[in-house]
Amino acid sequence: MGIRQELLVKIKSVDLEKVDQPKKVSSYFGENTFNLETMQKHISKETLEAFKLWMNEGKIITLEQANEIANALKDWAIAKGATYYTHWFQPMTGLTAEKHDSFISITAPGKVIEKFSGNKLIQGEPDASSFPSGGIRATFEARGYTAWDPSSPAFIMESKLGKTLCIPTIFISYHGDALDQKLPLLRSDEALSKAAVNLLKLFGHKDIKKVYSTCGPEQEYFLIDKNYYNLRQDLIMAGRTLVGAPSPKGQQLEDQYFGTIKERVLNFMYEVAEEAYKIGIPVTTRHNEVAPHQYEFAPIFEESNLAADHNQLLMDLMKKVALRHNLVCLLHEKPFAGINGSGKHLNWSLADNKGNNLLNPGDTPEDNLQFLAVLAAVLRAVYYHADLLRASVAMAGNEHRLGANEAPPAIISVFLGEQLTQILDTLEKGAKSSVSKHDVIDLGVARLPQFNKDTTDRNRTSPFAFTGMKFEFRAVGSSQNISTPITVINTIIADSLDFVADKIKKAQSGGKDFNAAVLAVVSEVVKDTRKVRFEGNNYSEEWLKEAKKRGLANVASTVEALEALTEQKNIALFEKYKVLTKEELLSRYHIWIHTYNLVLEIEASTLNEMVNASVVPAGIEYQHMLAKTIGEVANLKKSAKVKLEEAALNDQKEHLSEVTSKIYYVRRNTKVMVRLLEKASKLDPEKRAELYFKELKPLMEHIRKHVDDLERVVSDEHWDLPKYREMLFVK
Ligand code: ADP
Ligand code: MG
Repeated sequence: MGIRQELLVKIKSVDLEKVDQPKKVSSYFGENTFNLETMQKHISKETLEAFKLWMNEGKIITLEQANEIANALKDWAIAKGATYYTHWFQPMTGLTAEKHDSFISITAPGKVIEKFSGNKLIQGEPDASSFPSGGIRATFEARGYTAWDPSSPAFIMESKLGKTLCIPTIFISYHGDALDQKLPLLRSDEALSKAAVNLLKLFGHKDIKKVYSTCGPEQEYFLIDKNYYNLRQDLIMAGRTLVGAPSPKGQQLEDQYFGTIKERVLNFMYEVAEEAYKIGIPVTTRHNEVAPHQYEFAPIFEESNLAADHNQLLMDLMKKVALRHNLVCLLHEKPFAGINGSGKHLNWSLADNKGNNLLNPGDTPEDNLQFLAVLAAVLRAVYYHADLLRASVAMAGNEHRLGANEAPPAIISVFLGEQLTQILDTLEKGAKSSVSKHDVIDLGVARLPQFNKDTTDRNRTSPFAFTGMKFEFRAVGSSQNISTPITVINTIIADSLDFVADKIKKAQSGGKDFNAAVLAVVSEVVKDTRKVRFEGNNYSEEWLKEAKKRGLANVASTVEALEALTEQKNIALFEKYKVLTKEELLSRYHIWIHTYNLVLEIEASTLNEMVNASVVPAGIEYQHMLAKTIGEVANLKKSAKVKLEEAALNDQKEHLSEVTSKIYYVRRNTKVMVRLLEKASKLDPEKRAELYFKELKPLMEHIRKHVDDLERVVSDEHWDLPKYREMLFVK
């Protein structure tokens, strides 16, 4: 029996013991977080007020107050069994990082007490030298600082044998440059708030102090049995299969989407949700996705900063919990060829501090008008900054989705739905120059309808779709930290909200009454940005042609997409809104190009090893078997006069030739690949990334094609790599 055959016998789900009855979620939701409610019980009223003021108005608390909170936090955490604490941050690796310290402090020889101070709460100093900084931090200056983000509650992470207090922090260099993805997000929310509050003032909302972005990321993922995973070096090294013939049954029967969830997977989902609830992550939706063994988790939306932290945590939890069920959770954008990849639909909207959703058309004509102004800002932002949106999702994994005819294409367009489109079309034809107070929007409808999902969500192919009171950015990769796409959306919307507000003021000073001024500006923006709106099928050939005619960019390669970050107009935009300095922006550009190259090099080296150490040996074993058989059969024909049809013998000979050729093609192309990698190593990063996109990737695909051909003929016994039909269908 081959390794695979032995494995097949072993695959079985973990036997779970039922410990106790499921608890009511509300009875334990957030029990492991130090949220405002918990804080209230542990600190003085004055400090709590100061803390709230800090959250709402940016007035920093004193060191004494920080000390008080730190002490309360420590007591709370220790009472819950935590022995360590860590600043929890999000360096540019896209993952989260933690450096644990215990609470102990020596008081006398051999004696310790648990201690934690305001200083330790507020600031940490992990050695930053091994995190990507993209040239921001000279290597001699290894210092990096983590600083407490009080807007995201500290939480306790449990593992089987202990508990750790985690404090969400930003990560900055000695000079205060952002070395992470959280700080820019916080800054962008600030910029967005300012611009939106400013616009709302024009609409008479003088009492709104803060506007923030809200976000609900829908997380797609695959689950496969751990035993298979362990036998696939490509999954271990690259997170995706580099070879593997498609399974005869894939997703063509469409029998997986929303199908009955298998018990083994359901157990995993229950446990993930329970762990998530403890630390306050409001996961709510779970279902089967389109591809076999593909699933989704979606949370109730939250403020973006929290949503981003929670999504990072959820991804960690999913990976951790999967292992307990003898499964592996694959977050890669394209783990398997030929079936759907995974994305992360980023649902985004704006809310003010009173909880109003600014993308809600509202019930009154006044609300309608404000909604249209915000909508116009979104259209303008997406139209003029499509390049930044595209750059915000540019990465090696996502490159397999964008433009690969399954996910939203790399062309950024907006879908609004029929009703809204009609309204905008009417507007575009010309708003009335004067509009009476009671008849604010004379659009053939008395009032804008409430857009619910049924009327807005029919188009699943659009990369930026209005789905009723929110937009859904669908081009985000499943493994990505969502902070960066949110940062970009927030910044470009802030810019467009400012634009719209300025225009309205100008129109007013030109003599127009307010309502007429708003309508004039909205219709102007609608007209100006017409090209970015597309209601049809984004996956169709016609759209590619049409988009080209419209002059919309269609950037398939990561390196080309990232170039947007180096453009003067974009640098100026991020600097204007104090989201990223030029250095910070360029450092991200360098890091992401570098990461792209590293990912491709890891993939290519893994493929090289798989071909040489696994695929070719299997082919040769099989070839040997064929050759031997043909020799023996031919011999028998001659010596023992066994009656054999010439054609039958020739057929076997032909098969031997085919197998021999395939082994040859695989080897020949793999050697070319190795030479290509050598050549690439002498190029600068941009040129290298370009070469990888244009030559290395197609070459790897080509090698794969021959390997997959071999897989289809080599005897099952000789083929050691778990096959698609097993990984995706054996439960
Ligand atoms: P789907 O897009 O799969 O049909 P839904 O539309 O029901 O799913 O919801 C998708 C996500 O959108 C959920 O995570 C939900 O919390 C989020 N969402 C809903 N309203 C908002 C909002 N105002 N701001 C941000 N996200 C939102
Ligand atoms: Mg969705």
